[in-house]
Amino acid sequence: MRIQNLGKTIQQIQHEFSEFVLQNTQEKTDTLFSSEIYRHIKKSIHRIDILCAKHNVTPADLATPSFRKYLWLRFLAERENTKAHICALSNGYSVLLQSIPAYKNYKNLKTIHIQFDCSSYLFHIKKTQDKLHFQIHEALMHMPADLMCTLITTALNQKSRKELATIKSYTATREYQKCIAAIAGQPIANKKTYRGKFFNLQNIFHANNRQYFNNTLVQPRLVWSSQKSTSRWGYFHPELHTISINKKLDAPGTPILAVKYIMFHEMLHQNLGFQHINGRRYAHTKEFKQQEKTFEGYRQAENLIKLIQ
Ligand SMILES: [Zn+2]
Repeated sequence: MRIQNLGKTIQQIQHEFSEFVLQNTQEKTDTLFSSEIYRHIKKSIHRIDILCAKHNVTPADLATPSFRKYLWLRFLAERENTKAHICALSNGYSVLLQSIPAYKNYKNLKTIHIQFDCSSYLFHIKKTQDKLHFQIHEALMHMPADLMCTLITTALNQKSRKELATIKSYTATREYQKCIAAIAGQPIANKKTYRGKFFNLQNIFHANNRQYFNNTLVQPRLVWSSQKSTSRWGYFHPELHTISINKKLDAPGTPILAVKYIMFHEMLHQNLGFQHINGRRYAHTKEFKQQEKTFEGYRQAENLIKLIQ
């Protein structure tokens, strides 16, 4: 199912945010809640919920880019999040507008737009003719002012490795993780899109949950990847409460043990989370690898996967 014009709606809300920030001082943030933007956000969430119910699906059945947009809207429907959003956006604009004159490449810009969103980028800058479009991930909104300054100048400088590492290390902080968890909210299970042509991811998830996790794992969003990948069999996105399995596995020749094994691997990520040491994220820890070997038919499954490659 597709939500018509969702991209346009989001774009409009982003523009309304920018206008609000550029026209109002920070003390006026409270007027936001009686403004058109806030109504617009609530109305958009409602429209998606109603449409999904009508089709007997949940927002988790939407394609990942739309699902990200839905989570973003839901996050911003909470007043304290909108307040923080406005504050970050306002700071972002003031740093960017102050920094730009120092860059030759960015002279003669007519439009400068910044948005905090939930896209797959941590940050992304795009210049087309006289327009500058700057995307920053919503979970960076509590970033300390000096680091935000580094982020903006790094993007304008076309990124330098050392500074990029500093910015990335922020994603290992509790503050960032907390924000990611707040955006993800409570897991939303999908109702239809876990069905592939040959395998049903929900059945596989439940079978593993019973056999290995004592039924303690909450069912996340279970989807097939949109593209067949040659390098990645599965992925657990904590920010979306989603386990995504490579579509390439949904084929008649794939042994079910291989799909169960890939699912098990991602369920372990869901269960164990990630470890952050010195700003780096570790997923396959010693504990992870030990638990992975408890999978029944571990060796055989490993070999099967190699054969598929
Ligand atoms: Zn892994």
